[in-house]
Amino acid sequence: MLEELKARVCKQNVLLKESGLVVLTWGNVSAIDRNSGLVVIKPSGVSYDTMKPEDMVVVDLDGNVVEGSLKPSSDLPTHLYLYRNFTEIGGVVHTHSTYATAWAQSGKAIPPLGTTHADAFFGGVPCARKLTEAEVKGEYELNTGKVIGETFEGKDPYAIPAVLVQSHGPFTWGKTCEKAVENAITLEEVAKTAYLTLSIDGKTPDVDEYLLNKHYYRKHGKNASYGQNKN
Ligand code: 13P
Repeated sequence: MLEELKARVCKQNVLLKESGLVVLTWGNVSAIDRNSGLVVIKPSGVSYDTMKPEDMVVVDLDGNVVEGSLKPSSDLPTHLYLYRNFTEIGGVVHTHSTYATAWAQSGKAIPPLGTTHADAFFGGVPCARKLTEAEVKGEYELNTGKVIGETFEGKDPYAIPAVLVQSHGPFTWGKTCEKAVENAITLEEVAKTAYLTLSIDGKTPDVDEYLLNKHYYRKHGKNASYGQNKN
């Protein structure tokens, strides 16, 4: 079942470690097959060094395991909440990448300071509010999804495909699991350069809006011109 998607999801999970975004068994990647409504996600706590496509777990949007003998990622309910609510996404990623996690731990949004940021994110990357004690003691991973949803009220999750979960770390998403991992890699670079920029000058203003627009729309939307023609 969904063999091709399992191979892609496995490959992208391994890429998290190869890209230096995670160590040990931290982080997770999933993808959804919108036709069947089934989600493929990495198993919990399995080494990236030995992970195989057949280890991937297939679940429905309510979290029932449809195929797989291993336990799905502990963050599954967060991923499922995002698939249920951001209906155009096809992949979700969670990492503990150092700089993005440092911003998450500081409880601060990453401001858009330059074109590296604007190429991927159409504005600051928001930091979700802290979960309450009741939310942590209750359905923690589902509530993590809910605070992400709350953070994006009035914001476009497709134009800013990333969030910092406070005291925890980043989640990113995209049309595919490959794009979601690319966004996680970009987010880490953006988090690092923003940190360095503000340590040189803590009063650095946001990038000018016209430059942010220029860079974002060079890569996104129907008039995007970046890269090679597809035909
Ligand atoms: P899993 O191995 O269960 O996906 O957990 C990794 C992690 O980073 C939890 O936040």
